[in-house]
Amino acid sequence: MGGDGKGSGDPIPEEIDEHYRLFGKEPWEVDYGEKCAVCGSPVDECGLCACDSASD
Ligand SMILES: [Zn+2]
Repeated sequence: MGGDGKGSGDPIPEEIDEHYRLFGKEPWEVDYGEKCAVCGSPVDECGLCACDSASD
C-alpha cells in the first residue's frame, strides 16, 4: 500500500506541464480577476474562462 510513488502533493515537472509552458505559472498561481457574466467562472489574466466568452 502506498508504494506506487505517486504522492497527491507532488508538483508537476515543468517539462511536462502544458499549462506552465503556456502561461509561465501553475493554474493555481494565475491571478483571477472578475468573474465571467456568462458562465460565472473566474476569468484569468489571459481573458479566458470556462466558456471563453469573456475574451470579447
Ligand atoms: Zn465564461
